Amino acid sequence: MQYLYDKQHYIDRYDLHTVEECLDAVKMFQNIYQKSLTSDELKDLPEEEKLRNVNLMLSRHLFVIKGIRYEKKQETIQKWMSEDKVQQDKQDFTPTPEGIYCPLCNSSMYFSITKHLDSTYDNPILRLMFLFKCSKCEKQQWVYDDGEIRVSKPDLCPKCRKELDVTGSRKGKVITTLYKCKYCSYSKKDILDLAKSDKEHKKWEEEQKKKRDEGKKLLEKYRTEFCLSDKEGKEHVETLEAMEVANVIHDEEMQKYDDPVYERVSKLKKTTIVDLEKLLIEPLEKANMSNSPLKNQKWDSTLSFLFLFKIAIPREEIESVFRN
Ligand SMILES: [Zn+2]
Ligand SMILES: [Zn+2]
Repeated sequence: MQYLYDKQHYIDRYDLHTVEECLDAVKMFQNIYQKSLTSDELKDLPEEEKLRNVNLMLSRHLFVIKGIRYEKKQETIQKWMSEDKVQQDKQDFTPTPEGIYCPLCNSSMYFSITKHLDSTYDNPILRLMFLFKCSKCEKQQWVYDDGEIRVSKPDLCPKCRKELDVTGSRKGKVITTLYKCKYCSYSKKDILDLAKSDKEHKKWEEEQKKKRDEGKKLLEKYRTEFCLSDKEGKEHVETLEAMEVANVIHDEEMQKYDDPVYERVSKLKKTTIVDLEKLLIEPLEKANMSNSPLKNQKWDSTLSFLFLFKIAIPREEIESVFRN
């Protein structure tokens, strides 16, 4: 089985998550806009003003998602690849155990071809299992790489908790298993139709292929828009960091001044963005945005307003605010 793939495979996987996260944000803000059209509290705000504000918030939101996703990209891909490499190496380079004897007839057992990683979640140690066959009788046996025989748990009677007798028979593609208790009257019949499970597996494979194709299409369409290049990514990360610093400095500076520009600006933010955010985003976040990337940022109104200036409001508009 293949565990480790080439690097592009992981880049695609990561970028697809980024695209999906950004598209979710777009959808969320489309909903916010729809809600704003019928909101009582916002009935005095013109429609194009609502649209403009929602767009501002969306671009701010996307800016943060894109920056955070870029920041974590290389590290995450490295982590995925090294985890998969551990599994691949374990499978490829683990020597086959030797000197295994049949627990029924004590003849030597041989390893044929089937082996796989033991991926039970309650066992943190990664182990490889080999299927051994007895050279004399029919016995098959799973053996771990350290030579330990894998003991399968006996089926217990649900009524008296004693061990059940299990017998199996096969007719064509139908396997029947009969469970019978020697101590009480309990019995159960299991019928496994391989034709049916083949069909289910095929359906599952088709669904997987469909998912992969859809993922490919999304990447083709949106990768350049949402997944940042190194140059753009560094700029985003720097801006996000600068905002943290600017937030502190801004607070300090603003306390020193008591000028009309500041008053004008603070009035602006009070009447548009912050109102809209309070009215629409908070309830929305409560409802379904518990893992919003904004949750961990310091998004007080000062930061919001600085942010808007930096990325979303056209220069002329900022100047006009300051001129008035
Ligand atoms: Zn044997
Ligand atoms: Zn029983």
